[in-house]
Amino acid sequence: MAIQRIIDTASEDEGTEEQLIEVSLRPQRFDEYIGQERLKKNLKLAIAAAKKRDEPIDHVLLYGPPGLGKTTMASVIANEMGVGLRVTAGPAIERAGDLASILTNLQDGDILFIDEIHRLSRAVEEVLYSAMEDFKLDIVIGKGPAARSVRLDLPKFTVIGATTRTGSLAAPLRDRFGHLHRLEFYTPEEIAQIITRAATILNTTIHPESAQTLSHRARLTPRIANRLLKRVRDYADVNGDGIIDTAITSQALTMMEIDDMGLDPADRLMIRSIIQNYGDNPVGLTTIAALTGDEASTIEDFYEPYLLQIGFIERTPRGRRVTPKARKHVEK
Ligand code: ADP
Repeated sequence: MAIQRIIDTASEDEGTEEQLIEVSLRPQRFDEYIGQERLKKNLKLAIAAAKKRDEPIDHVLLYGPPGLGKTTMASVIANEMGVGLRVTAGPAIERAGDLASILTNLQDGDILFIDEIHRLSRAVEEVLYSAMEDFKLDIVIGKGPAARSVRLDLPKFTVIGATTRTGSLAAPLRDRFGHLHRLEFYTPEEIAQIITRAATILNTTIHPESAQTLSHRARLTPRIANRLLKRVRDYADVNGDGIIDTAITSQALTMMEIDDMGLDPADRLMIRSIIQNYGDNPVGLTTIAALTGDEASTIEDFYEPYLLQIGFIERTPRGRRVTPKARKHVEK
């Protein structure tokens, strides 16, 4: 198994101490959820309208790179609506029967959050979109000539789907979502606010300049911001008096080898290998994956979005190209 990178945006395994802290750092309400202003504005309106009509809100699809707050937003919506939230993920629903049992156990108004919804099998997808359409579930009972189809009424529920790729979603499923929203990378100022808020929850003192410094290294991503903060807090507890000041921050970041653009040694190695082997020419994702030893999908979902965002990598019809900006950064 690959070593966990600090800048990894994959969520932690459930049950670890990290996961428990994550839960308490997770904003519960809109006013705690920093940034994504356009998304919040749209959802607040949808929620107010649904409440007024006393109906569940229309199905919501949230897409964008990992760690930007899709799961968090699903629980904020459930809290603001005052309804129950059931959390699952595409790969966890293997058969149509698994989905049927989840759906039949929902209460009226409940929200079903499906992470990685693009990883549902086609068979499950089909059951899901017909259930989303008319809140009915067609199931086949028995086998062979005795088999018969029954139609069950389902409670009126809302699906919130999260995905890193809308392109991988079948069109009929995508069309069932009334709200489609892309989560954007945060600004460094928003990330600094997220860090300051998390430090307060963790009972840690952080100097404003240190929150600023960390905000530029967190890849504009809240999950990484929280993780960096926790590592620097550990460093401050062991090597200082627990207060996160400029000196402690810079020592901790040097130790973690995260540079001023938020790149770790593996990112720099990837960029250098592309330059060494291909110069300025475009190179295919599978070739990059072979150079770094990662899965192509891992690079595409987890590492590349940020590098594209800061203009270190460009997408061309013939593959990815390292930009002069990235070259300058790794050669300095
Ligand atoms: P995703 O589902 O997009 O992968 P999560 O919702 O799990 O991302 O977010 C990762 C972590 O980042 C959360 O546990 C939460 O602590 C933090 N976080 C995400 N969005 C925000 C936000 N807007 N404000 C404050 N913290 C946030």
